[in-house]
Amino acid sequence: MSWFVGLTGGIGSGKSTAARQFAALGADIVDTDIIAHQLTAPDGAAIPAIRTTFGADFLTPDGALNRARMRETIFADPAAKQKLEAILHPAIRSEAQRQAGASTAPYVLVVVPLLFESGAYRNWLHRVCAVDCPEDLQIARTMQRSGLSETAVRAIMAQQLSRAERCALADDTVDNSGTTDALHDQVTRLHALYLDLAAKNR
Ligand code: ADP
Repeated sequence: MSWFVGLTGGIGSGKSTAARQFAALGADIVDTDIIAHQLTAPDGAAIPAIRTTFGADFLTPDGALNRARMRETIFADPAAKQKLEAILHPAIRSEAQRQAGASTAPYVLVVVPLLFESGAYRNWLHRVCAVDCPEDLQIARTMQRSGLSETAVRAIMAQQLSRAERCALADDTVDNSGTTDALHDQVTRLHALYLDLAAKNR
């Protein structure tokens, strides 16, 4: 059995960037965003339940989840959001656990954007690292990457924990307010710590 570290952080904080750095050092990565996309792609495992619960109107002609339509619906309707999460969250978690359990790496980094918000991950993971940077940088970097408006990014951030809450719950925090080289220095130190902890817990 491998050792599992959760990696979390607000939108645009630098989770994917940090995860790539951990991977280059030798960690295995399980990315719950990728799993969510696979589950809702054409023929994805969550598509039958989405069709039954929401109807074929919520699928694209090729049979994938119609993300734009679903996003609009759940933004305006908390009950619909809960229904979608009841389908997706357990499926994402069990696939993440399957992938992590199959790893032979010294430890697995499990990337979960809403790790503390969704609750169910904390008992399974041995340790949690939060990527943190000032909100202005989160917004600027997300807008540059995605083309979302500032209002849209702020609306997403409003549904996530505050930086202070997230950092207080995490075992480790990396500060991504500097360059990617500065991030890499911190990732390298944590990687050494995780190798050490994983070896002690084997
Ligand atoms: P997340 O996965 O948390 O949403 P990303 O790792 O995708 O965040 O980072 C958001 C954007 O900011 C990406 O375009 C990424 O290349 C860029 N970025 C991340 N860290 C830095 C940094 N230290 N300096 C400059 N740009 C960064």
